[in-house]
Amino acid sequence: MSYGFSQVPTPINDPIRAYLPGSEERASIKTELERQASASVEVPMYIGGARVTTGDLHDIVMPHDHQHVLGRWHAGTADHARQAVEAAEAAKDDWANLPWEDRAAIFLKAAHLLKHTHRDRFNAATMLNQSKVLFQAEIDAACELVDFWNFNVHYMARIYGEQPPVSPEGQWNRLEHRPLDGFVFAVSPFNFTSIAANIPTAPALMGNTVVWKPAPTAMLGAYYIMELLEEAGLPKGVINMVAGPPAEIGDAVLNDPRLAGIHFTGSTATFEHLWQQVATRLPSYRSYPRLVGETGGKDFVFAHPSADPTTVATALARGAFEYQGQKCSAASRAYIPRSMWPTVRAQLEEHLKTIKVGDVRDFQNLMGAVIDARAYAKHVEAIGQAKGMIGDAIEEVLGGGHDDSKGWFVQPTVIVANDAQAPTMTTELFGPILTVHPYEDADFEATLELCDKTGPYALTGCIMARDRGAVATAVERLRFSAGNFYVNDKPTGAVVGQQPFGGSRKSGTNDKAGAILNLLRWVSPRTIKETFEPPTTVPYPYMSEP
Ligand code: NAD
Repeated sequence: MSYGFSQVPTPINDPIRAYLPGSEERASIKTELERQASASVEVPMYIGGARVTTGDLHDIVMPHDHQHVLGRWHAGTADHARQAVEAAEAAKDDWANLPWEDRAAIFLKAAHLLKHTHRDRFNAATMLNQSKVLFQAEIDAACELVDFWNFNVHYMARIYGEQPPVSPEGQWNRLEHRPLDGFVFAVSPFNFTSIAANIPTAPALMGNTVVWKPAPTAMLGAYYIMELLEEAGLPKGVINMVAGPPAEIGDAVLNDPRLAGIHFTGSTATFEHLWQQVATRLPSYRSYPRLVGETGGKDFVFAHPSADPTTVATALARGAFEYQGQKCSAASRAYIPRSMWPTVRAQLEEHLKTIKVGDVRDFQNLMGAVIDARAYAKHVEAIGQAKGMIGDAIEEVLGGGHDDSKGWFVQPTVIVANDAQAPTMTTELFGPILTVHPYEDADFEATLELCDKTGPYALTGCIMARDRGAVATAVERLRFSAGNFYVNDKPTGAVVGQQPFGGSRKSGTNDKAGAILNLLRWVSPRTIKETFEPPTTVPYPYMSEP
């Protein structure tokens, strides 16, 4: 029995829980946080359904309390990567031939389990291992991931329903939306549990088998994702999770001629490296691998003189500092009219004083720690450099405190740049550091041009203005400056099904995660024409006379 594709209803977004004082949900997440903080998990690799351990153990720590070990993960080698490829290939035919409803049901069930029984587990793991405060964990590890799985099933059905509109009398034309002819290499970043899960599951949903390499700093979430997928009924070998030295694992996987695609989210440098590796090996591949990558950003807030200064200051604080600026969409540069800057500056300074940074288990903190010692060192260096440039390219630095004695804490920081091309206006830092360039009010259009031409990225950005003409001008002039553009809103917080996410230029291939456009990259359609009464003569009727 098979159901019509149109019978998959449009999902609704998973509502965000409030966790208000005194609520049951608040008590429940606190219990789970305590449980995970006092437990010690051992995270294996998952190859062909087997849990593979190597004894090469690496700590899973809390960034806000880096001596606190939450567990350990087993690192593998190139051999494990090759085994994972073989396991993916072995599982491929059965998975691709499974009716689409059965594949769909696994991910719908995963969404259901996450929403109801695994929510606290996912949120607590994301809070403790990635240092997200409760609200940030809830919108990522719970809501966005539930949405990814539910909406992707809906989009899958729409893709399968897409058929040639014309089949003349005596013919039937069909499109078979096959999976790719090989396996997919899925590589995910540390900063979103939902992205970590979507990276391997989007290709898998479309009938592909996958080798998944999660980020070493987000292994607790990766572990719970694999355990949940198994509980939801994902067959062995469909998603094979390998961990270990990234270049060694990556090299072994890319060496295989059956590589059919890469689903990547992470930095521009890593994606370019992978792309170059694929390019060098191109003649050896069976097909042209699909390369899908969502990468870095230098996302902007652009205020017009007509904007409301309070809205601008709020958008800057929320957009730049939530999750310590470690969202690919985080506001990290801003263009503010000179006339408005003193008001916005005063409000921002107030926000810097009141924003609390600390352990994510204290619900009063708006920010936790940055992900690891390397990120901390990078942010501290950038702040130091900016301070050294005061009086020249830099006007002043607000905030800028840091302390790594217990956790990798970087205080929210605002760098005011006279020079619109100062290093922190152009380089992605991926931390709670915002650079503001105050511009002359009369130079609105020239500054839009400058914004468009600054840096290599084009991920997110926003225009804040009450003047409709200014909004229209900015929408037009910044057409290629961001793949996700906002009007009078901060440039973060895209919601699945509402604002498909992705950028262009050096921000990625813009294949819009959580949208039909992304899933289309994981199918390789076959056209089937069937003729009911094939011709029996070679000459055409008009040839019967000269
Ligand atoms: P990263 O590039 O350091 O790592 C991403 C993944 O690539 C990790 O799993 C890492 O281990 C792996 N990797 C690194 N070198 C590899 C190699 N040679 N072969 C195979 N795998 C390799 O990025 P990150 O620090 O985890 O994440 C932060 C970056 O991700 C930022 O630049 C951010 O803008 C970007 N990001 C973008 C989006 C988006 O949608 N555009 C979303 C989230 C994060």
